[in-house]
Amino acid sequence: MKRTHYSTQITPGMDKGTVTITGWVHEIRDLGGIAFLVVRDREGLAQVTLFKKAMEQEVLDTVKGLSRESVVSVTGTIQKMAQAPNGYEVIPKGITVLSHAASPLPMDTTGKVDADLDTRLDARFMDTRRPRTQAIFRIRHIVLRCIREFLSKDGFVEITTPKVVATATEGGTALFPITYFEREAFLNQSPQLFKQLMMSGGLDRVYEIAPIFRAEEHDTRRHLNEASSIDIEASFIDQKDVMAILENLVNHVYNEVAEIGAKYLETLGVELEIPELPFKRITYDKAINIAGANGEDLEWGDDLSTEAEHIIGKNVGEHYFIVDWPTKIKPFYAMPYEDKPELCKAFDMMHPRMELSSGAQRVHNYDLLKTRIEEQGLNPDGFEFYLNAFRYGMPPHSGWGLGTERLLMTMLGIENIREVVLFPRDRRRLSP
Ligand code: ATP
Ligand code: MG
Repeated sequence: MKRTHYSTQITPGMDKGTVTITGWVHEIRDLGGIAFLVVRDREGLAQVTLFKKAMEQEVLDTVKGLSRESVVSVTGTIQKMAQAPNGYEVIPKGITVLSHAASPLPMDTTGKVDADLDTRLDARFMDTRRPRTQAIFRIRHIVLRCIREFLSKDGFVEITTPKVVATATEGGTALFPITYFEREAFLNQSPQLFKQLMMSGGLDRVYEIAPIFRAEEHDTRRHLNEASSIDIEASFIDQKDVMAILENLVNHVYNEVAEIGAKYLETLGVELEIPELPFKRITYDKAINIAGANGEDLEWGDDLSTEAEHIIGKNVGEHYFIVDWPTKIKPFYAMPYEDKPELCKAFDMMHPRMELSSGAQRVHNYDLLKTRIEEQGLNPDGFEFYLNAFRYGMPPHSGWGLGTERLLMTMLGIENIREVVLFPRDRRRLSP
């Protein structure tokens, strides 16, 4: 039962060696005197060849009773075979069925029959057996790993903040209420307030990669109700500094995926275009002018519509920042410019298709922050635990949040965000 090699670790040069492979029955082809059993593991395919005359009856009987997607372990000798996957075949000495798969299967795994997304998500355990889906999640792993490495190297400390909270981050809307003993609580929509607390807390540079919950009823291809956010916060630096961290990080992730994930990119048929540094910067004013010149009229102070994002994205054509936003449409914690308080030191980082990240230098002055909370129509009483940290020595600080799924879907040219999360939560989907 113990595997000695993944299918791709075996090479033709291991001719006559003995191996044990494990995996799922991908295909069985019976050609009379000879039968082929193709076994699939995480890494690829291996062909097991049975010359019926030379085989023990027991092995033949086992293969006869096999259904597709059953789990098997095959011990045998390697034989060079140019036409087989990876240039070898396994001549079995013994085959053990570890788990029998019922039929019919909920979906096809060979890539011959297309299943729609809903069917695939319902049978996600089977969908991830497909090389294409597997490739997406292997790249997701590379992305997350290299973000952790990048930020750790840059002095960021990984933190974990609560997902069950008493107060909204940015107001009462778009929250999932839950029952917390005899009280009402909420699923957190962002780690914003907590990562800022840790600036007062002296950790200096922090990051978190964790779920965020948004109760918006949107049913789009770029929104989830539970998403995974990459968040950073850093003291004694301004919005320009964290923008530089962000663009360097994105560029680095693309480079790493292109190198380490080459095999998966090939499976997906994706040729990565590495976004060039530095990303373009355009102001909010310029952004709405571009939208207006192309038929999407916006008033100064409007948030960018989806249509406007598309128009501007097409116009710019690569990753870019929108800077200097109207203070009134950014959250209370974004720092207004001292000499022009109707504008704030906030930015969005955009892919031509959609927003990937929002960030800002934050307000670190207690009085100003309290005023800003009130100006946004919120009650400072609900923010006491947060405001308190600003009364006892809060350094100036800045940060951003970057959507893991949006980073992945734009990188891989994937249309629907549900493709890049194992078990998406949306308006209709709560299971699996
Ligand atoms: P949008 O306007 O595109 O809905 P947002 O401005 O509400 O996004 P932020 O609160 O700025 O989102 O969150 C920071 C980042 O987190 C976003 O840029 C995005 O990448 C990601 N994100 C936010 N909400 C969602 C969601 N519902 N589904 C997937 N990713 C999200
Ligand atoms: Mg945003």
